[in-house]
Amino acid sequence: MRSAPNDANLKETPTCPKCGQLAWETGTKYGIRAECCGLWSWNRAPLADAATHKLREQVHSMMTDLRVGPGWGVLEEMTKRAGWSRPIKISEMNEATARKALTALEDIVMDIMAGNDPLKGKR
Ligand SMILES: [Zn+2]
Repeated sequence: MRSAPNDANLKETPTCPKCGQLAWETGTKYGIRAECCGLWSWNRAPLADAATHKLREQVHSMMTDLRVGPGWGVLEEMTKRAGWSRPIKISEMNEATARKALTALEDIVMDIMAGNDPLKGKR
């Protein structure tokens, strides 16, 4: 997902969910980093704690492993299994939605291992 650097201009500085202040922003080579109260985010996504960032990394790496080729089948399948009406960007996932995404992805892996690849022809 490569949309983050552009839509950063359209978003407002995130507010810290812990203290209610606007986050402190710095420009980095990865984009705008916002932080406050031990939480942080990039490109004005909602601030998240270390546990959430770790979960997002796991979601990202599982999706990368499952997405062989240019297909977005894994995103659709994950969204469906998580019971969401539309996909949630990894950068916007909170702890609960990231856990849901991981469960859905593990579910897909189990199906693949059982010889029942739901992504067949979609990746
Ligand atoms: Zn704060």
